[in-house]
Amino acid sequence: MKRTGFLYDERYLLHDTGPNHPESPERLKAIYQGIKQAGLLPSLTLFLAMPADLEWIETVHSKNYIKRFEAACNSTISTFDCPDNQICADTFVIALLAVGGVLDAVRRVMTGQIDNAFCAVRPPGHHAEHESAMGFCYFNNVAIAARYLQAEWGIQRVGIVDFDVHHGNGTQHIFEKDPTVFYYSIHQHPTFAFPGTGRVFETGDGEGEGATRNYPVLPGHGDKEYQGLVERDLMPVMEAFSPEVILVSAGFDAHVDDDMSDIQLSTEGYSRIMQRIAALAEHCSNGRLISVLEGGYCIKRLPELAVNHVKILLNI
Ligand SMILES: [Zn+2]
Repeated sequence: MKRTGFLYDERYLLHDTGPNHPESPERLKAIYQGIKQAGLLPSLTLFLAMPADLEWIETVHSKNYIKRFEAACNSTISTFDCPDNQICADTFVIALLAVGGVLDAVRRVMTGQIDNAFCAVRPPGHHAEHESAMGFCYFNNVAIAARYLQAEWGIQRVGIVDFDVHHGNGTQHIFEKDPTVFYYSIHQHPTFAFPGTGRVFETGDGEGEGATRNYPVLPGHGDKEYQGLVERDLMPVMEAFSPEVILVSAGFDAHVDDDMSDIQLSTEGYSRIMQRIAALAEHCSNGRLISVLEGGYCIKRLPELAVNHVKILLNI
């Protein structure tokens, strides 16, 4: 059994997106209750969030963007940068707690206190760009964690695997010129899906050419196609890159019961993908893997998806 960290903090529920917004506090409640009811809490190292230092946020986002975001949350406006991005007075502080919690998970893994971690954070991050909020995301939690790994912990090669059903446009753009961070995304075909980026020919830029890989999947596809591409493509490509740490953008919105996509992954299909990513971390990264929640909106399925995810991290 592994020593697995579980980041959960009730303050993440304070990011109020208003009525009928899919990115709701109910998502995290469902995940926490699922893990609790499965009897897993005693096996996990539960830890609370702490706010991130702006120094780390600034490795990915501009000072001007951070100021604009804070000012928006302190004003009476209810959305920031795009109509999907609802904010409340607490959103800025909660977004700092999301990043800070993920960085603390990284620190715990790097100091050997835990082997790996699942960070159940809100708001999510992979759509957040250097200079703009997008797709329910404000700060790019995973991108900042990659920079923190490099600057604070001397890690040279970071692998990011993003299986959220949407393309992580922010993460790709932040690292597309950088050969030291490999961004691999599996997502629904961009022709039909938000945000429209992540086509197969987007493979990085300049020195970063080859360190971005996009695998769009057609609507209606599911377990069989995902399993095939994980074996044939993700595994060999990531093994060749040989990341020292693996970060996972864990989005559960490709589930067949999730209204956000037309991808038909089953709960077991999700488990098989994660098992392979965990095996990859074991093989390349000394088991060092930090998984960070992105999307996933089916309140009914999130508990079982999170339970299976955490069991794989625990190796039970
Ligand atoms: Zn998504």
